[in-house]
Amino acid sequence: MTQEVEPLPINATPLPWHQTELATLAEQYQRGMLAHALLLYGAPDTGKRRLAQALARLLLCANPQNGLPCGDCHPCELAAAGHNSDVCWQEPGTGSRVIKVEQVRAAVAFTQGTASFSPNKVVVFAPAQKLNLNAHNALLKSLEEPAPDTYLILVCDSLNAIPATIRSRCRMQPLPDPDKALALQWLQETTQDSALAESLLSLTDGRPLLAQALYSEDRVESYSAGRLALRALLARELTATDIWNGFSDEDSDAFLQMLASELRLRIKGLPAQALASTEGRALFKLLDETLRIRRAVAAGSNPAAQMLVDQMLSKSHRELGQARRGDTI
Ligand SMILES: [Zn+2]
Repeated sequence: MTQEVEPLPINATPLPWHQTELATLAEQYQRGMLAHALLLYGAPDTGKRRLAQALARLLLCANPQNGLPCGDCHPCELAAAGHNSDVCWQEPGTGSRVIKVEQVRAAVAFTQGTASFSPNKVVVFAPAQKLNLNAHNALLKSLEEPAPDTYLILVCDSLNAIPATIRSRCRMQPLPDPDKALALQWLQETTQDSALAESLLSLTDGRPLLAQALYSEDRVESYSAGRLALRALLARELTATDIWNGFSDEDSDAFLQMLASELRLRIKGLPAQALASTEGRALFKLLDETLRIRRAVAAGSNPAAQMLVDQMLSKSHRELGQARRGDTI
């Protein structure tokens, strides 16, 4: 067989704050009630993929016990080594921003075969917002006619990027934001320092996997500088040109994520009566637009990502200035 089937990523330990959701899904599976198409969604960098991996392991196990894979059967051994051919894990390839339509076709072909060793076949798209329109259309067909003993798991952090036609065919499984105490405890295993874990979690607005990545990749300083620069832009102390120098196309998505985080913080900081003010409305509008551009940039549909970010920054600077003047009149 020459299908492009990706192996299951080896690290499949679910994160501590997802135990309840995993137990619920395991219980549904045990009762034969687990949906054959699941959409796991929640905030970025909170470990949704890890939950998908853990669930895939369970579905592959020949002898699950108490809602967990046994770890001893042949499919479990293969999964632990990343070689279980009954799972098809699709994510953007190296150097690509999107999950290509060919990858969806390979996944659909995979679902049409029979499982080799495991009781089920599992297909995962992570993250599903990286499927472009053609890929979504190719996927729709298999959602309409699900193959028996096949589970499709979509992972995403931007529900708006998933067409309604796909959403309506999946069971939606929301994943709440990580519990702070559990996230701190987990992060501390990496940092070995509770104060540092606390400041990293706060810097990343409670997104433990981003905090861990920044720490491990030595990017805390640059991320922190980016956030401070954006804060200064929103306070109109810096212009778009001041802060966008030296950043490349590669940084566009990260920058838009940071801008969205800063806009959310500003909205959160507004007193309730100010939400409908000119400034409140401008912030909501800018957030919507930032998320829209982010979707376009993340799906790889726009080659002029850098220019879009630049325009978004200029617009934020300009419109918040106007909003503030409007409020004082
Ligand atoms: Zn097993």
